[in-house]
Amino acid sequence: MDNIRVRFAPSPTGALHIGGVRTALYNYLLARKTGGTFILRIEDTDQVRYVPGAEDYIIETLRWCGLIPDEGPGFGGNYGPYRQSDRKAIYQEYAQQLLESGHAYYAFDTPEELEAARSAQDNFKYDATTRELMRNSLSMPQTEVQALLDAGVPYVIRLKVPAGEEVLIHDLIRDEVRFQTNELDDKVILKADGMPTYHLANIVDDRLMKITHVIRGEEWLSSTAHHVLLYRAFGWEAEMPRFAHLPLILKPSGKGKLSKRDGVQLGIPVFPLAWQGDTAEESFTGFREAGFLPHAMINFLAMLGWNPGNDQEIFSISELCDAFTLEKIGKAGARFDIDKARWFNQQYIMAMDDTSLAAHVRPYIEAEGHKPDNHFLEAFCGLMKERVTLLPDFWENGYYFFEAVKIFDTATLSKRWKPESREMMLALYAELNELDVFSAADLHTAIDRFLEKRGLKHGDLLPLLRIALAGTMKGPAVFEMMALLGCEESLRRLQTACDTFDSLIAGQ
Ligand code: GLU
Repeated sequence: MDNIRVRFAPSPTGALHIGGVRTALYNYLLARKTGGTFILRIEDTDQVRYVPGAEDYIIETLRWCGLIPDEGPGFGGNYGPYRQSDRKAIYQEYAQQLLESGHAYYAFDTPEELEAARSAQDNFKYDATTRELMRNSLSMPQTEVQALLDAGVPYVIRLKVPAGEEVLIHDLIRDEVRFQTNELDDKVILKADGMPTYHLANIVDDRLMKITHVIRGEEWLSSTAHHVLLYRAFGWEAEMPRFAHLPLILKPSGKGKLSKRDGVQLGIPVFPLAWQGDTAEESFTGFREAGFLPHAMINFLAMLGWNPGNDQEIFSISELCDAFTLEKIGKAGARFDIDKARWFNQQYIMAMDDTSLAAHVRPYIEAEGHKPDNHFLEAFCGLMKERVTLLPDFWENGYYFFEAVKIFDTATLSKRWKPESREMMLALYAELNELDVFSAADLHTAIDRFLEKRGLKHGDLLPLLRIALAGTMKGPAVFEMMALLGCEESLRRLQTACDTFDSLIAGQ
């Protein structure tokens, strides 16, 4: 087979839904696996639905995820332009070709006339049974058509769908899918503004860009019937791309298709990046802003509909590229299980080296007004990474490494802080103050010795020490925590505990 060429062809009509990212990913994986080419094509011919900023959003998403196109607007390539609004003349030429070969026709029906036809007949369809009754170049004399064209009367160009034929699609995921042309309408292929519709632009570009595989969401399956008819009309059917329609992404409940409203309702991201719309309802948070790592999100999305055929779940991008095949994509809808996404994120955070992690965590710490040096931040990440799920958790669960404890777990304190505790803490203070090296291992030895001398157990001291240092019973090992906080700060917190815990409990 020729070099595989696939495209991701989003329309810039708003934020790119997470399903779109999965489509881009599967295209990317097939290209990378086969040494093929991954193309980004911006399908912006619908001027009414065009949203400024949406194209930038798409590109920023692909960059964030590491799905860098080989060809596309701003990415180079020999088959451009890759933005459909820059290809208007090409579509007009191809529409003309279909007019000349008799596969398309001019239609002059005004919106009012179309409306009247719809109200006169239930389920009105512009097709072989009705087109003779409408105002078009098939029903009107040639001279009248010419006169209208000469007078500049607005028109659209429609595809002449043949009656009584079958369209058979061999979909790589759904196997054989059949459509009867009698059920299809004469789709508009060129609009009154001279712009093509999705159908014409999509297949002309797939042809001219030498696309070998069309991998897209299931919602486009029904359009494929018209696409095959267009390929037929152009005489290109023998070299049509292969089709693969991806299964739906279902709501977390498993019932119905995931929608952008689910994100708002359930408080979960269903977009890769945050999007600022005109209204609050049209503004959304994203996986990035929720604190997901891009590769964790990609791994999660890869498994939404595809499976490797064994129980491996964690895949690096290059492992995904090796393992990916279209044959292992299922037909059934895939449930958008956000808890699974969180689990992936946790796994990726735990597996990441401290230096890389620190780079991801730094913005969160700086947003709180702290500028730790790299050494400290990396050690912090190392201590915290098994105790977080999302990136903001580093600050949420570990802020006390950067500033004084804000909240003490008084419920635990009131059980553990005994009349003799203050004296014990002060003695510990004195002992630790003598330490030359404040490493976790030295602290461990010193504290064990201290407890032994006094006939005490870990349980008598460590919970109190933990609350003195962090305010909470949760967190990394006490000795590690102290070593990172350093001698001065740890002792200051011990002193604060001695000064305040009595009244803190009394005030409870
Ligand atoms: N422009 C369509 C979309 O927004 C592309 C569908 C296709 O891949 O053919 O998803």
